[in-house]
Amino acid sequence: MRPDAASGATPSSRPVAGRQADPGLPGMLWRGARGRCPACGKGRLFAGYLKPAPRCECCGTDLSRIRADDAPPYFTIFIASKLLAPFVFGLERAFAPPLWVHAVLWAPVITAACILLLRPVKGATIGLMLRLGIDGSEGGPESGRA
Ligand SMILES: [Zn+2]
Repeated sequence: MRPDAASGATPSSRPVAGRQADPGLPGMLWRGARGRCPACGKGRLFAGYLKPAPRCECCGTDLSRIRADDAPPYFTIFIASKLLAPFVFGLERAFAPPLWVHAVLWAPVITAACILLLRPVKGATIGLMLRLGIDGSEGGPESGRA
């Protein structure tokens, strides 16, 4: 008679409660990009410009075991190049300036973009690693616990 009402109420209670506690992958990426603990979203992720805090001051998540290594610079260079390439090629196409103009103009712009992007990208990378259960140790999961 009314199978939709009966079946709709029963399975929705548990997943909704789990979803409220779990921010999901986009939520953890966003929290990390904002410099907040990816697990709780309240504590500070960084103790310096790029150095992760050893432990979240709010939820106690161990952040010292996460080693992002070269992934954040790689992602940062990739993102900055994709963001700035249209401007570089647009300038070349519109004015065809000498190469020294490109060097003088784009070197500081690209450097500034990378410096501004590196911290949020590292935070998002740490959020991704926490979400996926990756700690960045080279010897596998057993070596990090020994
Ligand atoms: Zn936390």
